Amino acid sequence: MRHLILGNGPAGVVAAETLRRAAQEDDIVLAGSEDAPPYSRMAIPYLLEGNIDESGTWLRKAPDHFERLRIRALRGRAVAVDTDKRRVLFDDGHFEPYDRLLIATGSHPVRPPIPGVDLPEVHTCWTLADARAIAALARPGARVLQLGAGFIGCIIMEALAKRGVELTVVEMGDRMVPRMMTPTAGAMIKRWVEDKGIRVVTSAGVQRIDRGSAVGAAAPLAVSLSTGERLECELVIVAAGVAPNVGFLDGTAVQVAKGVLVDARMQTSVAGIFAAGDVAEAPDLFTGAHLVAAIQPNAADQARIAALNMARGEAGETRLNGVLAINVLDTLGLISSSFGQWWGEKAEHGGEGVELVDDARYRYLSLQFKDDVLIGATSIGLTEHVGALRGLIHGQVRLGAWKARLLAAPLAFVDAYVACSQQPMALAR
Ligand SMILES: Cc1cc2nc3c(=O)[nH]c(=O)nc-3n(C[C@H](O)[C@H](O)[C@H](O)COP(=O)(O)OP(=O)(O)OC[C@H]3O[C@@H](n4cnc5c(N)ncnc54)[C@H](O)[C@@H]3O)c2cc1C
Repeated sequence: MRHLILGNGPAGVVAAETLRRAAQEDDIVLAGSEDAPPYSRMAIPYLLEGNIDESGTWLRKAPDHFERLRIRALRGRAVAVDTDKRRVLFDDGHFEPYDRLLIATGSHPVRPPIPGVDLPEVHTCWTLADARAIAALARPGARVLQLGAGFIGCIIMEALAKRGVELTVVEMGDRMVPRMMTPTAGAMIKRWVEDKGIRVVTSAGVQRIDRGSAVGAAAPLAVSLSTGERLECELVIVAAGVAPNVGFLDGTAVQVAKGVLVDARMQTSVAGIFAAGDVAEAPDLFTGAHLVAAIQPNAADQARIAALNMARGEAGETRLNGVLAINVLDTLGLISSSFGQWWGEKAEHGGEGVELVDDARYRYLSLQFKDDVLIGATSIGLTEHVGALRGLIHGQVRLGAWKARLLAAPLAFVDAYVACSQQPMALAR
């Protein structure tokens, strides 16, 4: 049996290792398109801060790690898949055959169609190559404009601040992390960031980026905002969202929505082809609707499940228990998190929620219920017990009388977790 894995990020690596354990005799090929050993994008902020060098980002440190596991590493970009002949075409023109295929190609950052977005001092922050380019320009005192205050934008802010740059963040939404945090939470994070000396401009877009010299500015770049303001800077970082790497599947029967659609076994619409990680859209825990959950723990979980099913073929019955959206952010030391359906449910569908706001201490909690089940939560500054929130949501625990108690005193969620999840359901109610 020959397993071909496309993509050697966390999902590809975990899948290859799981396959080797589960299928001792099978051939495993792990293909990656970047000019680097398999690495973790999560470590890029630490690289930019100077806490680690590039080898610190590598997922496996021993140079012969994959060789010892008899996993063949292949450098190349997959450009097309022939599902009839079961083979993949690579950018150097060669084909790799497969019996089972895993798509673990992750995503790529989106560059919005803004005039000037391809100028050399404009970079995304996604790969090691991006990190090298940013490090060269983000020198102490450099003026940096960051386009986007989403998940990645917030994560890299601390590294940029530590490099001593003068940072302005421009966000189209009305608050920071608008797709992961409630309005109150996003506004609280904004206040925190501004207090640390970073300028945040919300409800504003970048309209164009010009060469400074072309518009009479002294700096290398001049950025025009929708507010009419023009900002001069040495570096623009684009953190405006990502899109799954699925182009090479065009013309195949593999169904793609935003990402590659998979079932609970992580198999795609074509038997023998699986997908995992940032590229995959798996069924959501609550609604069953497909969802890309682009975080590393999710990539590893999905890869393990895909690999076990690849090893066992038709007999493979390892299933994902539904994706739970989990976002944990450290924004310049302020820890925030959101879980599940954090935005809540409509009242006519049994939705009800409660918010606790402590502006002075940067603490916040929002709990969202559907009937007597906690379906989503957002928190700021509650670092110690968020695991209990996740446990209640992931376990879809029936809260019974605890729901009313939580509506009156939301911080009692830890007690609710202990009371409801460690006793038989009948007692919890
Ligand atoms: C700056 C930054 C910080 C982050 N911080 C966190 C964090 O704190 N917590 C967290 O959980 N997540 C974080 N993430 C997200 C996390 O890195 C991703 O969820 C994770 O990398 C997904 O793993 P993956 O294997 O699915 O995809 P990737 O890591 O993207 O790996 C996919 C691989 O496939 C390769 N590839 C793409 N197309 C092809 C092709 N056609 N042929 C062959 N190979 C191909 C790519 O080059 C890449 O090596 C961060 C991401 C970034 C950029």
